[in-house]
Amino acid sequence: MYAGSIKNHRERETGLLVYPVYSRRSQGLSLGINLFPDRKRCSFDCPYCEVFPFKSNIRFSLNLMKTQLQEALTLVKTRGIEARDICFSGNGEPTMSPDFRAALEEAFRIRDDSAPETKVVVITNGTGLLDNRMFELLRQSAAKGLKVWLKADAGTEAWYRAMNRSQTPYQALRGKIRAFTSGAPATIQTMRCMVNGVPPAQEEEEAWESFVTELADGTMLEAVHIYGKARPAPEDPLTESLPSAELERYGQSLKKRLESAGLNPAVQVFP
Ligand code: SF4
Repeated sequence: MYAGSIKNHRERETGLLVYPVYSRRSQGLSLGINLFPDRKRCSFDCPYCEVFPFKSNIRFSLNLMKTQLQEALTLVKTRGIEARDICFSGNGEPTMSPDFRAALEEAFRIRDDSAPETKVVVITNGTGLLDNRMFELLRQSAAKGLKVWLKADAGTEAWYRAMNRSQTPYQALRGKIRAFTSGAPATIQTMRCMVNGVPPAQEEEEAWESFVTELADGTMLEAVHIYGKARPAPEDPLTESLPSAELERYGQSLKKRLESAGLNPAVQVFP
């Protein structure tokens, strides 16, 4: 039985499949869907990752997810709160779950029946795009209204290695992100923080702006979210927040660059 209260994302580490959380980037209440209640699974190993080590015997169950999602939507409605979105994100990379496709279908069905104004979002690191079937699922789902929020933390391979520590080849991933935004609406999400006390270098800043400008040119890129480290991470203090003013400066500089290229995806900063 769903018994969550609108508190914080730590509930996803206690086995809940649907957890309510206030989301900066959604600017309101988000109902997270956690496909990994037993342990974290991800193709990235970001040093700023907020998922603390945990283990449980709970297995993902589509039926339980459906029940919890329905109950969560009913609960927020009775409290007079708007759920901004239903978001696939918790405890790892959603596209790595064998249940992702079915869970996505059910989330859309329940959303359509109970809360048609609520968006359905997937927060992904993009590595699933290297699988043609997953690329196609996300492309088709985006055409039906799925909001795809794609991580792109780095404009250089060196910063990608520092920020994401992944085996996935950087250039291949970049190419797939470009291919995806060419044919489907998407939002780019970039975490900006210090690693080992070092902020992104000037070369990284320039390369990242070029990459995002290239992603916006002639494609369906809707928005760029620049966000800072606002929550504790198990590897703290390996990564540290940058001052809000610095994040705002990244946003202003990117906006200028995009405007000078005649491009206008929204640029939003979440310190
Ligand atoms: S992609 Fe997300 S879940 Fe995976 S390690 Fe990075 S922050 Fe954590």
